[in-house]
Amino acid sequence: MTQTSRNAQGDTVLLDTDAGVQAALAEVAARVHGGGRITTDEARLLWEHASDDELKSLAGAVRARYHAPDRATYMVMRIINYTNVCVAQCDYCAFYVLPNQDGGYVLSREDVFAKIDQLLELGGDLVGFNGGFNPRLPLHYYADLFAAVRERYGDKVEFYALTIAEFMYLADRAKLSHHEAAEALRDAGVFWITGGGSEILTEDFRKRHAKFKYTVREYFQAQRAIVETGMRTTATMVIGFDETLDERLEHLERTRAFQDDCIQDGWDGLFSFLCWTYKPYGTALGGREITPREYWRHMALCRIYLDNVKHFRTSVLTQNADAFRALEFGADDFDLPLEDEVTQKAGATIDLDMDRLLAVPRALGYNVEYRHAERPPALAATA
Ligand code: SF4
Repeated sequence: MTQTSRNAQGDTVLLDTDAGVQAALAEVAARVHGGGRITTDEARLLWEHASDDELKSLAGAVRARYHAPDRATYMVMRIINYTNVCVAQCDYCAFYVLPNQDGGYVLSREDVFAKIDQLLELGGDLVGFNGGFNPRLPLHYYADLFAAVRERYGDKVEFYALTIAEFMYLADRAKLSHHEAAEALRDAGVFWITGGGSEILTEDFRKRHAKFKYTVREYFQAQRAIVETGMRTTATMVIGFDETLDERLEHLERTRAFQDDCIQDGWDGLFSFLCWTYKPYGTALGGREITPREYWRHMALCRIYLDNVKHFRTSVLTQNADAFRALEFGADDFDLPLEDEVTQKAGATIDLDMDRLLAVPRALGYNVEYRHAERPPALAATA
């Protein structure tokens, strides 16, 4: 069968021979180095035919549009899993228990504060709240919790309040529109609702693995509502389930289009893109972990394709020291986590020796600087 690819002009490029592939790769490389954008077909071409060095070079070129080549930034953060009770039943999750099952918990306010205090003692200042879809926790539980954190810690701590997946669930339970729910949280002092819980954003993937969670259409509607309330948000992606290359590319296509629309309408949109890898241990889905090399190549492809997102974050939580090589494949930012029960239950391990971890990117030649979470200027003034 004749292999083809479609270039930026919409022309069909024949890939029957090695010479045809090399010519197509050279055309893509010239466009990226010239500041241009690649098509989805060209992303497929890069994934299937580009060498590691070619991907590094192109990802480095897009990274250099936003960041000095030898600079990387990081944060020290803790994910606080406030409840493990969840009704979504995603088959890739080893964390949740159903309501009324043994082992379910909801952290007390004192537990939450103790975890934040410990984070501060260890030099961190970013908290990510993440938990299950717990039907016993109404919207005001979250609003009260976030308001209390803001009141107690002021600007000493910033927090990612929820993932979009949790946000959609609690808006639905409260019978509020996404805009109304976003405004309620913003008025309680929330600055960030991250793009977590996205895994792979195709309707087929959602039906196969997380059919009670949300549809992709709803996901982007909710994210747009968050953007329009003035809060910040991010893009995420998780790879290594059973997703196809086409599904990975569709996720990227939808994310790039969302960000294009935000920018066109005058919003900052997505602050960053974070990709991590599926941990299969203890899950109903099972499976095997992908290799670090596949992760690095994927990060490069994402950086090249998502040319409208400034920060690319590599996942120390799931890749440990191997995560830092992704800086050479387009990433510019990472966090050092203290805790995340969701991924730890599925097999992630956390190294708390931060000096040892930071020595790895330094040995790769990066000047590594601590980064504080940004505050949306309009909202920070009111906190
Ligand atoms: S991944 Fe999140 S939403 Fe899905 S079952 Fe686990 S806790 Fe619930």
